[in-house]
Amino acid sequence: MAVNLLDFDLSHLTEYFASIGEKPFRAKQVMHWMHQMAQDDFDQMTDLAKSLRANLKQQCCIKTPTLIGEQLSKDGTHKWLLDVGTGNGIETVFIPESERGTLCVSSQIGCALECAFCATARQGFNRNLTTAEIIGQLWWANRAMGVTPKNERVISNVVLMGMGEPLANYDNVIGALNIMLVDCAYGLSRRRVTVSTSGMVPQMDRLKEDCPVALAVSLHAPNNEIRDKIVPLNKKYPLEELMAACKRYLVKAPRDFITFEYVMLKNINDQSHHAHELIKLIRDVPCKFNLIPFNSFPNSGFECSSFEQIQRFRDILCAAGLVVTTRKTRGQDIDAACGQLAGQVQDKTNRQQKWEQVILAKKGKEHVVS
Ligand code: SAH
Repeated sequence: MAVNLLDFDLSHLTEYFASIGEKPFRAKQVMHWMHQMAQDDFDQMTDLAKSLRANLKQQCCIKTPTLIGEQLSKDGTHKWLLDVGTGNGIETVFIPESERGTLCVSSQIGCALECAFCATARQGFNRNLTTAEIIGQLWWANRAMGVTPKNERVISNVVLMGMGEPLANYDNVIGALNIMLVDCAYGLSRRRVTVSTSGMVPQMDRLKEDCPVALAVSLHAPNNEIRDKIVPLNKKYPLEELMAACKRYLVKAPRDFITFEYVMLKNINDQSHHAHELIKLIRDVPCKFNLIPFNSFPNSGFECSSFEQIQRFRDILCAAGLVVTTRKTRGQDIDAACGQLAGQVQDKTNRQQKWEQVILAKKGKEHVVS
């Protein structure tokens, strides 16, 4: 198969050009065409010599995932479904706000982790996305959204908060981050690109050296007992280690705080004493909190905390001097909210089957009781 140039960041494209006997500086020009102009046809790259275009056409290609569906929510949220082959589809969501436009990008087909409250987790896992498939999401969205009348890009921020655990697909995610950041491609500042992780401690340490972008950590619990149950990765990297890794990350981070995400689950992690415990847990980690009202899906087994409970929780954190935002649920009418992205996953882990059995068994019991 021809080499896909969307898989390369600038340094790899430069090396590749040298390897096929082309001038390395042409790499920047081609990056500009591919990413800034959203061009996938070498013939349209009019300032490249014909001989270079012919050489590229023969040896390589520019191949994005195939767009197979698009939905627009009442609130302006836009969702794309992209085909990544062998029956798998991934979802990407654009969330417009007054001051910025954020694209939420997927990093894997499904997810191998088993966070109890997440719809993607129920779908199981197929494989990591390639760099081309990760950046291909930005490519499509950017092509659809274009620039503002002031010639500013509509997509000003990218968050890796779609399907998958970005740090479990480390190398391909780094490749895609490099393309997001480099001036001849998307030129986003490190502060405007956020990786969200469930807490993969060794990879957090690597990220801070290789490509320190803004970091969000899915905390979701004030103690190991609760976190072990709802974010099972906690058994491998418990809270003490996670907090230490957050502090280490801040030495190199582009922002001077970590964003802690905290999904509000009724009667699980949302009580006032949990908020007080949380304040103690994070006391020496500079951070902001993002409370996420739980987005339900069929047979999730969880309920969202009430509006009043979320307010109470938030007030306790605020009173301790923390900066807290409550995430607005966006795009719910098109299943585009956090944890609702499900795409199409050809599950290789038998997870979908396992969940079907759990749900059937539960229904069976309910039946016997009634
Ligand atoms: N794997 C990464 C990115 C995934 S999703 C991570 O864990 O951070 C981004 C955020 O949505 C995470 O904080 C995740 O825990 C949260 N989330 C998952 N399912 C959710 C649901 N049903 N409702 C609300 N938030 C959810």
